[in-house]
Amino acid sequence: MKLVVLGPPGAGKGTQAAKLSGELSLPRIATGDMLRLEVSSGTELGKEAEGYMRRGLLVPDDIIIEMVRERVSQEDCKRGFILDGFPRNMAQAKVLEALGPMDLVIYLDAGEEEVVERLAGRRACRECQAVYHLRFSPPKADGRCDLCGGRLHQREDDREEVVRERFRTYRERTQPLVQYYQAKSILEKVEGLGTIEEISWSIQETLESRGLI
Ligand code: ADP
Ligand code: ADP
Ligand code: ZN
Repeated sequence: MKLVVLGPPGAGKGTQAAKLSGELSLPRIATGDMLRLEVSSGTELGKEAEGYMRRGLLVPDDIIIEMVRERVSQEDCKRGFILDGFPRNMAQAKVLEALGPMDLVIYLDAGEEEVVERLAGRRACRECQAVYHLRFSPPKADGRCDLCGGRLHQREDDREEVVRERFRTYRERTQPLVQYYQAKSILEKVEGLGTIEEISWSIQETLESRGLI
């Protein structure tokens, strides 16, 4: 099963994709996480990507596309995968299409104000990149990751001015993919407002109604 989770920054893509990954035993491919790993490891790719990420802009397609192509060709992707944060523009969508048809695009929708609040409270583990929220999904121990004990931090691009820029980027470059996938009849919109559990249920229902589970 090949799934795409699409939506604005902070809509809950990572949270839901990680849940689904556990439930369906499919790898979650999060391009943002992969890029942050390159940045923190100080690789050439990371150095090239960093400036774009800090400004809330898309990293150039050639970098991203090569990364995804390589990742989906690995053994653990044979049964399928869940893409989180890719594709983010039409060129990426075209490349993905050439790799084979997707079964479903889950479009998680959330408004700008909700998202700004969510991202202001988002904290991520420095070690394993697990995601928390100060109010909506707090860790058991203050400032520490439940999964690995790593230290939690706020992403530099979760500051409000960068979030607004990411939103603008999303509207201009990524939002058009909604119509694109709608026209292919593989898009299902899931309301991103509600608790993490409620949204997870809606996604399960959607997968059932499509005969995917
Ligand atoms: P969020 O889920 O909060 O929108 P991500 O972690 O997915 O953020 O992405 C963080 C940043 O990484 C983006 O703002 C962008 O600079 C870069 N990035 C991630 N995925 C892509 C992609 N598919 N194409 C281009 N840039 C990307
Ligand atoms: P995305 O990957 O789309 O950028 P995340 O999954 O990282 O979004 O979620 C953004 C922030 O909002 C995180 O701090 C997360 O814990 C929190 N969050 C996710 N889903 C919900 C929800 N349904 N209600 C409230 N907060 C949420
Ligand atoms: Zn951790």
